[in-house]
Amino acid sequence: MSYVVRAPELPALAVAGSDARFPVRRIFCVGRNYAAHAREMGKDPDREPPFFFSKPADTIVPSGAKVPYPSMTHNLHHEIELVVAIGEGGSDIPEARALDHVYGYAVGIDLTRRDLQAEAKEMGRPWEVAKGFDCSAPCTAVHPAAEIGHPASGRIWLEVGDELRQSGDLTELIWSVPELSSILSRYFRLMPGDLIFTGTPAGVGAVVPGDRLTGGVEGVDEITIEIV
Ligand code: MN
Repeated sequence: MSYVVRAPELPALAVAGSDARFPVRRIFCVGRNYAAHAREMGKDPDREPPFFFSKPADTIVPSGAKVPYPSMTHNLHHEIELVVAIGEGGSDIPEARALDHVYGYAVGIDLTRRDLQAEAKEMGRPWEVAKGFDCSAPCTAVHPAAEIGHPASGRIWLEVGDELRQSGDLTELIWSVPELSSILSRYFRLMPGDLIFTGTPAGVGAVVPGDRLTGGVEGVDEITIEIV
């Protein structure tokens, strides 16, 4: 096949314990999925149905990367998140079968231009410029569920330098991984290679060039990036 412009490389993540890689097809993200974070964003955390947004697949950058401070913002925020890697596609997936569609898990940071997001919310505009900018989805290697199981509890945390900013537990997820996967599959036919960023606990905040971010999910992995 030849193309009239240079064809993009397929974005992919390392897979723990394998030389093969996980191809990233789409990145879905869930908004406000921990009650304390919903409250800090000024929302009632009652179980309103989950809502989704997405980032381009090529916003993925690996753990260990130097991430350039993005343009057009003065308020870049970190959001540490458990990431679900879909291995088997499907639509209208029943909740009871949803985990069968999961290949594995990773730890990601949903980097957010918070000032542009606030403006978008106020103006009723879409979130792409706040969420989908270049390098906005740092993510660890994928850890196969066959190796680590399906984490439903465990600490999720993020430090900036030596300062603990975010600390929560997967048990605090408003919508669990099976629930999220099932609901998302009603809107989109999930496909192998899709990632789901499952939302962030409370404590989001700003970072500046020179900051080193380290975070993790107990039983999955740890991620570190440097803002440059
Ligand atoms: Mn998020």
